[in-house]
Order: sequence, then C-alpha cells, then structure tokens
Amino acid sequence: MPTITLQTALAAQPYDYLIVGAGFAGSVLAERLSAGLGKRILLIDRREHIGGNAYDHLDAAGVLVHRYGPHIFHTNAQRIVDYLSRFTEWRPYEHRVLAQVDGHLLPIPINLTTLNILYAQSMNEAQAEAFLASRAEPVATIHTSEDVVINQVGRELYEKFFRGYTRKQWGLDPSELDKSVTARVPTRTTTDDRYFTDAFQIMPLHGYTQMFERMLEHPAIDVLLATDFSTVRELLRYRELVYCGPIDEYFGHCYGKLPYRSLRFQHETHDHECFQPVAVVNYPHPAVPYTRITEYKHLTGQTHPLTSISYEFPCADGDPYYPIPRPENAELYKRYRALADQTPGVTFLGRLGTYKYYNMDQVVGQALALYQRIAREAGVEVEQHVAEPG
Ligand code: FAD
Ligand code: UDP
Repeated sequence: MPTITLQTALAAQPYDYLIVGAGFAGSVLAERLSAGLGKRILLIDRREHIGGNAYDHLDAAGVLVHRYGPHIFHTNAQRIVDYLSRFTEWRPYEHRVLAQVDGHLLPIPINLTTLNILYAQSMNEAQAEAFLASRAEPVATIHTSEDVVINQVGRELYEKFFRGYTRKQWGLDPSELDKSVTARVPTRTTTDDRYFTDAFQIMPLHGYTQMFERMLEHPAIDVLLATDFSTVRELLRYRELVYCGPIDEYFGHCYGKLPYRSLRFQHETHDHECFQPVAVVNYPHPAVPYTRITEYKHLTGQTHPLTSISYEFPCADGDPYYPIPRPENAELYKRYRALADQTPGVTFLGRLGTYKYYNMDQVVGQALALYQRIAREAGVEVEQHVAEPG
C-alpha cells in the first residue's frame, strides 16, 4: 500500500476529511467515506504502520506476530463479518485460555473442568452448580469488578483467578473498577472452555495488516505515517476532522489527564516448534510480574520450526492501550465529551476517541454507524451490509 509524504499531503490539500489514527476506527471510516461517498481522505498515524493496535507483521524469524498483544476476532454481528469479508478471507479459530493456578494449568473462564482439577473432584454440571452456589457470596447490588466475581464464585476462586491478575493489569483493586471489566469473563458449570461464545470466531487468513492494506487501497485515500497530529495541526487544510486518538490529548488535557492503562510487550522467539499448549496462558499470581504469555502460531495457524511469544507487563506510562472503566473517569470523560459537542467540524471515534473499552468488532460497528449518519445527511442510500439493523 503506497503512503505519501507530508510534502505531498501539503500540496494535495484541502482534503474533505482528515482522519487521525489508522486503526480500525479510522481505517473503516476512511474506506467508507472514499468508496461510499467519493470523499478525498488524508489518513494519518503517528506510528510508522497502519492497523493501530491490531497491527501484525513477520518478525525477524519470519513468524507472524501481533506487535501489541493477542487480537482475536469475535462478534455476533453478521453485517460486521460481511463488511470485513470484502477485505479478507478468514480462518476459523476458537480461543482457549489456560491460567496458571496452584501449580496447575487450568481452563479460564472457570468451568466444570477447572473446578474438578482444582479440587480433585469429579462433579457433574448440577453438582458444580451446587458447589459454586455454596461458595458464592451474594452481593445485593453489583457495582464493582470484585462484586461480580464474589457474587458468582466466592472469595477463594476470586483470589486465585481474578484479584492478582486485575491488580496487575489495572494497578487497581477489582473493588475500584467498574463491574463491566471482570464481567467480560463469564463463569460456567459446563465443560465449554472457549473464551468467547460469539457466533463468529475467526481470524483474518493473511493477518490484520493485509486486511487493512486492502481496505485502504483506494485512490481517494492518502496515508501519511509517522506523523503526529499535533505537529501538522496548523499546516493541513481539510473540511472535517475525525479524531481517533485520546480525546483528552486533543483538548490539551485542559480538564486534566484521562487515565489509560499501558503495557510493555516483551517479544521473544524460541528455538522449538511449540512453547505452550494454547495461544494464551494467564498468570494471575501477584508474584509473577506479567499477566499473560501469548504464542502467536496458535492464533494464526502458521507452521514454522521456531515459535514467537510475547509477555505482557502492565504499566502506568506508555502508549494508551486501555481506558480505565471507573466512575470518576467516566465523569471526567463526560466533561471532554461536552467540550467535543461544542467543537464544530470534529468528530471523535474509536477506543481512545470515545474512551470506551471496545473490542474490534464494536469499533467497526461504531465507525459504520458514523458513516451511516454522514451518508444519510448527504442524502445517500446506505448499502445493506453497512446499515445498522433497525
Ligand atoms: P487504535 O487501534 O488504538 O488506533 C488508534 C490509532 O491512532 C493508533 O494507531 C495511534 O497511533 C493513532 N493516534 C493516536 N493519537 C494520534 C495522534 N495525535 N496523531 C496521529 N496518530 C494518532 N479487541 C478484540 O476484539 N479482540 C481481542 O482479542 C483484543 N485484544 C486486545 C489486546 C490488547 C493488548 C489491546 C490493547 C487491545 C485489544 N483489543 C482486542 C482491542 C482492540 O485493539 C481495539 O478495539 C481496536 O484496536 C481499537 O481500534 P481504534 O482504531 O479505536 O484504536
Ligand atoms: N481477568 C482476570 N483473570 C483472568 C482473566 C481476566 O482477573 O485470568 C480480569 C482482568 O481484570 C481483565 C478482565 O478480566 O482485565 C478482562 O479480561 P480480558 O481477557 O477480556 O482482557 P483483555 O483481553 O481486554 O486484556
């Protein structure tokens, strides 16, 4: 996919849209506005690549890895699969995760197998339900990430699987985090050990980056990389701006910084074919400094005599990866949102632009919904695939 230089961008302007951020949010919108409405787009990113956090590439050993940690595509929305299928073929992949607990590698989400191994039992589904019911500590109103888990499985399993992991991942106790965070991981009494139960669990056959390349292969899209919006803000001319970076950064942190959680990735290649039995192994124990290890070949289906893995070390400073769901942050975001609403010509989009802990499919849905709104305002009929249901 050809990219342009700043000089070319300056000569080519004014653009109809400047889109900041070449991740899912910015790339889907760029594709739609150009292919659907004939708009001229300049898409910029401060990184030297497209794809945002979903970027994948061949490492020095030739193994396909995700630079920013494991990205597993899952959705219940047929229309989002249909839309992305214009740019990629798929391989089926059901994600399974093991957690290192008490010297065992146990399936997480907690399920019948987890309980039977951990407690050396041979319970059936009904017995497991009764077992969990006897341990659960009912919480009248569930507010926090601690409440969710304690209410389902009780304190012991909470401490083994959730407390340490969450404290490391977020730098906060689960009691300080919104319930939506740990509620992402269900509890089951069946033997279903899949991490997700979505109708579609698939990976782009040739990787995310190739899918993005095809999405952005339109003559009306110019892509300018390694360029921070702040350095070209005064130079570029465009009619509308769509900003997929952190909303607080756009406004110069005028109300204070919105907290984001960051990660440090340690990538390694090992001189054997397989490192661990599944793509992701979680390490909830507080004494282990990382949260999880990913072995990419399980995700991509690649065969290779070597294997590449990454460790995730959560940290406060660094690239903003996760908005932190808790009430005070939601309040601060609302103030930025109100400011955004009073700023004509700029729309905020994506996980950083709208401060939402969104999965990839949700960001695609958000970008398609924005496109639909813009198309309607322009009086253009939206294709079936792209239209939101209802
Ligand atoms: P991003 O991908 O973050 O893209 C934003 C882009 O904007 C970035 O490339 C950034 O460089 C650029 N940018 C920001 N500010 C500026 C600026 N001032 N100037 C220029 N460019 C700028 N989702 C799933 O569905 N399944 C998963 O398994 C999954 N795993 C994940 C694992 C990790 C470790 C992380 C961090 C996220 C995971 N996600 C997963 C979430 C997924 O990454 C996001 O939903 C998706 O990438 C968000 O797309 P986006 O375009 O909103 O943001
Ligand atoms: N979590 C946990 N232990 C685990 C897995 C998840 O405590 O073994 C908690 C943790 O707070 C984590 C959240 O559940 O941040 C959501 O997990 P998920 O795997 O969805 O996180 P992501 O892939 O978005 O980093």
